[in-house]
Amino acid sequence: MSEGMTVTRITHSCHLIQIGDTTVLTDPWFSERAFYHPGEPVACAVADLPRLDAVLISHHHYDHCDLDAFRGYRDKAVPMLVAGPVAAKAESAGFTSVRALEPWQTATVAGLTVTAVPAKHAVYEVTFVISGGGRSVYFAADSLVVPEMRTLPDRFGQFDVALLPVNGLRIRPQFNKQIVMNAEEAAQLTAVLKPRLTVPHHYAFTGGAVGDRLITKGDRDPGHFVSAVRQLAPDSAVRVLQPGEPVHFSADARVG
Ligand SMILES: [Zn+2]
Repeated sequence: MSEGMTVTRITHSCHLIQIGDTTVLTDPWFSERAFYHPGEPVACAVADLPRLDAVLISHHHYDHCDLDAFRGYRDKAVPMLVAGPVAAKAESAGFTSVRALEPWQTATVAGLTVTAVPAKHAVYEVTFVISGGGRSVYFAADSLVVPEMRTLPDRFGQFDVALLPVNGLRIRPQFNKQIVMNAEEAAQLTAVLKPRLTVPHHYAFTGGAVGDRLITKGDRDPGHFVSAVRQLAPDSAVRVLQPGEPVHFSADARVG
């Protein structure tokens, strides 16, 4: 029997994943600054977060690792499972239970197993599989697709949910170097992972009028991913979640 599960996108790549009574937060982002705007509402303030059993941070870019805001979280002993370069930053923000996970390392928190998965981005990054209670979720942060991701079904079986970035972000001053998977690449990955449900994230982000013109370039329409999934991965359901909108899986494993 699988536990009930709820996935709620807060904004950008920040999600709440609740499996049974256990709650995990991914890639906290709660504020904005010059050239970094969520481009969509932030569904929840740090002070209004539920009790968290774990926090996962994929890499140290501000829009995934907003420790200036998240240091306001009430429980400094919350377990934090992070990419290596994040660990010292989390500790200096006052968190006391910080563990860096290397690719394929696992940690157990409140009955869930969290496994770090290789990634590739502009800086060092890991992605995460969260499993337990008969459920599994893959959170791909803002990585490009790497071959190791294609081995995940052999290692973990079928995922209930894949949370995939889709904006194909490019850095204009670096000859438009691509640093995030795009909609079609994410749909191709969906075809390999065959999750019951695939949910896009990392698309509303904007650098503002100047940032979008001079620094970053990304696809802001998640509809491109929805179309690509319907074409390339028709066995998976696809759903765009607005900030604050939950998707529920009842205990009988169907999407509700
Ligand atoms: Zn990033």
